[in-house]
Amino acid sequence: MGNLGQSHGARGVAAEELRRHNLGAVLEHLHLAGPVTRSRLTAVTGLNRSTVADLIGELSGLGLVAEAPSTIATGPGRPSPVVDVTPHGAVVLAIEIAVDSLALATVGIGGHVFNQVRVARQRGHVRPEQTVRDIGQLAAPLLAALPGGSNLLGIGAAIVGIVRRSDGLVHFAPNLGWRDVPLGAMLATELGVATKVSVANDADLGAVAEHRRGRPGVDHLVYISGEVGLGCGVVVSGEPLLGVAGYAGEAGHNLVNPDGRVCGCGAVGCWETEAGEQALLRRIGSLEAGPALELLDEVERRARSGDATVLEAFAETGRWLGYGIRDLINVFNPEVVVLGGLYHRFFGYLEDGILATAQAAIRASGEIATIAPSSVGSDASLIGASELVLAAAIDDPASIAPIG
Ligand SMILES: [Zn+2]
Repeated sequence: MGNLGQSHGARGVAAEELRRHNLGAVLEHLHLAGPVTRSRLTAVTGLNRSTVADLIGELSGLGLVAEAPSTIATGPGRPSPVVDVTPHGAVVLAIEIAVDSLALATVGIGGHVFNQVRVARQRGHVRPEQTVRDIGQLAAPLLAALPGGSNLLGIGAAIVGIVRRSDGLVHFAPNLGWRDVPLGAMLATELGVATKVSVANDADLGAVAEHRRGRPGVDHLVYISGEVGLGCGVVVSGEPLLGVAGYAGEAGHNLVNPDGRVCGCGAVGCWETEAGEQALLRRIGSLEAGPALELLDEVERRARSGDATVLEAFAETGRWLGYGIRDLINVFNPEVVVLGGLYHRFFGYLEDGILATAQAAIRASGEIATIAPSSVGSDASLIGASELVLAAAIDDPASIAPIG
């Protein structure tokens, strides 16, 4: 009965919504899966050939895709043209603010990285104003090197802190010493661009990168990033778990040792005080203070040479990691627990320790969950920062202003 009562206007709106949805679906497929023939695109979207041709025509008009003649005959008749994204048609400046390093990349639709830079920073609390100025200096040559006519959609930033997504306010970043820093607004001013700045927690973005780029089809995962702190991002039913304000996933500050040490957050015995980078270095003991990236190179060299102190420090840190992973498996019933950052780099040394304690997860969940190193690698947060902006634009391609 409802349908009969619908006005032509309402039906028009529904048809327009459907067309926009299909436009987004075609672009999303090309963005994540790479170039495909037009006939393959018809098959995977379930749309008919003329609809797909129209959608490709519209995306092409927006400067987002291009077609090229196929070189492969796939059956009788004319070969189907190959459709691919045009990377410079939608570009993001992705930024990762870690304790020990700053990284920037210009990333186009399809995940095409135009340029990328990572610089080490001195350990210690780097002030927000200095950080933003450094980002401005690193960004200028990257933006200048983009191909002519590039369409900069926005800026995505990942930071090791608790972030309010709505305006990019960094509420608290204990390992940077930042409190209530309006990072989104500061970046917009520094970079002098009219485009939107989106800021999110680094581990949340690592989870997004792993879900969208690293493990297609895995819709329940927990991502744990190891840096100076320990961050956690969760994907449930294919959607990032953010909480009311975007602060969810701070598992690094769950209590694991009531008799333990004071954490950067002010509490005692947080998971990161036993399983974070500082805990690992503390257990190794004899390392001198210095630039953290060099310290970790030294740790790796000693581990490779079979240094018993270093190997035991990894085993002990792995066991503490496993306690927290056990809890996360019990709470979220994930298909995969992904280890990123420091834990990705040293997974081989940590794995036995992790398994020794994580296996105490309840059996039903524990038998399902795999514990694995990140499949997108050490740039997961940076990739996630680009996806944050690109995914929102791909949802509604018509919102992307064509290149003038
Ligand atoms: Zn804490």
